[in-house]
Amino acid sequence: MNLFFKDLKKLLPIGGIVLYPFFVFLIFGFFYVPSTYGYLKEIVAFGLFSVILFVTIFLFKPLKIRNFLFDFLIVLLSILIIVKLFFYSTYETKLSTSALYVIFESNKGEISGYFYDFIKTSKVLFVLMFLFGILFFVKKYLRDKGTLNLSDIPLLCFTNGIAKIFVLIFVVLSSMLIYKKFNDENILIEIYNSYAEYVDLKTKLKNTLAKEKSDYIKLVSKLDVAQTYVVVIGESTSSWHMQLYDYARETNPLLSEIKDELIIFKDVIAPHVHTIASLEKILTMSDYSNPNVKENSSIIQIANEAGFTTYWLSNQQPIGIDESIPTLIGNAAQHKYFINTDDYGDNVYDEKLLPQLQNILNEDVTKKMVFVHLMGTHTPYKRRYPKEFQFFNNDSGFKLKVNEYDNAIRYNDFVIRNIIEKVRELETNSYVLYFSDHGDEVYDTMDFFGHNEYHATKPMYEVPFIFWFSKGYKKNISHIKESDLLLERKYNLENFVHSFSDVSQINFNRLDSTKSIFSNKFKESKRLIKKGIDYDKD
Ligand SMILES: [Zn+2]
Repeated sequence: MNLFFKDLKKLLPIGGIVLYPFFVFLIFGFFYVPSTYGYLKEIVAFGLFSVILFVTIFLFKPLKIRNFLFDFLIVLLSILIIVKLFFYSTYETKLSTSALYVIFESNKGEISGYFYDFIKTSKVLFVLMFLFGILFFVKKYLRDKGTLNLSDIPLLCFTNGIAKIFVLIFVVLSSMLIYKKFNDENILIEIYNSYAEYVDLKTKLKNTLAKEKSDYIKLVSKLDVAQTYVVVIGESTSSWHMQLYDYARETNPLLSEIKDELIIFKDVIAPHVHTIASLEKILTMSDYSNPNVKENSSIIQIANEAGFTTYWLSNQQPIGIDESIPTLIGNAAQHKYFINTDDYGDNVYDEKLLPQLQNILNEDVTKKMVFVHLMGTHTPYKRRYPKEFQFFNNDSGFKLKVNEYDNAIRYNDFVIRNIIEKVRELETNSYVLYFSDHGDEVYDTMDFFGHNEYHATKPMYEVPFIFWFSKGYKKNISHIKESDLLLERKYNLENFVHSFSDVSQINFNRLDSTKSIFSNKFKESKRLIKKGIDYDKD
């Protein structure tokens, strides 16, 4: 019995250190994890995970290996806890698949942009102290003084016989339990699953969408007159902050000037609130009921099929961990221009696209389809507009981020108007169609800025959808009625392919006019988001 207590005495400091990250989470998690159930689940999952790793160490006999594994274990558990707490404290949610997608999709520049606003120096310092503090403590005070001796604790002598078998069974069974019941709480499993899903999606896209033509589209009819069409894909721009959508501040002075020429659809949502997931649906035939199947051709492939010369002009960086999904889709274009290709190119303003757009518009091509992918109003907002565009100032009584976002929106207004004017100058049969991939919440309905699907709010879903057309185009659109009824139509951009084909006079085998917001055959359908929530009901 005495021996048992002696062992226990040795075990206490070791266990205390192993469970230190767990205790940190126990305390901070209590304040950060939004639901009690979620908190308890996290604690059980993390506690179990810590214990599994801990006992695994003692399956090895050599002290060197044990010490090494012990240090590794502490660092690993600490990092996991730091990441968990970071997400809970910043987003009030756990690390999610959608958040991981953003990270997989990002290169260094974007990641620094993404975290730029969130990581405060104090947080970094806290993290470093946490990590190095505990390692230093282990090394200097415990191991060197002999308090932390992983070698001779009979209670944990699992290296021989039946004990080893029992421990192995425990490790296997509890690992299975974590994998089955707590896989959402275990960051490592979540990263692995999301990454596998992501790689699979990309392989599929690469084999189908990145090709110039799709095997699954059959053209029914097309026009062979001169056409110059420009589709502008915005970024993180919510209609909630646009003057054109009744926002109280002057964020659209230039588009407001030509408001009478614009068809402004008032009730349009993005299918998701993250770029990748959203654009995958908007730019292809993929939608809520048919996600990611190989038959889901893209609007670029449709344009190619209809004999357009296609251009993909982007201010978003083309390289993620491999190639990002919008880039893969853009690869189907016959001509591709990425003006933001270096790692530090975070500050390339969208107006830098305009000279290249002018070159494209000047090209002697009868049927042109230009896709312009903006950086738009993506966080960090203040890096999206030049100094001259700082219009809303901090003495206005608004929050700093709201001012920055509104300045970015106002700059975006300048870019879109410029694009329209360049197309107008051509005096040909043309349109400019603008929408955003999703919006951002900027303290509109909750104390948060940015976008996160777990906590998605209306400003994150509700996006501008604006159509301008030339005099030459007007004769093509006899079927478009400019009534208020049309503008009020409830629309989910996951059906964009059909609207796009409709206004571009492309008829193909899978065109569904009831899904074109411009068509007189249009029928409103349920707008499903997340895992089947009706946007208009819940
Ligand atoms: Zn986006």
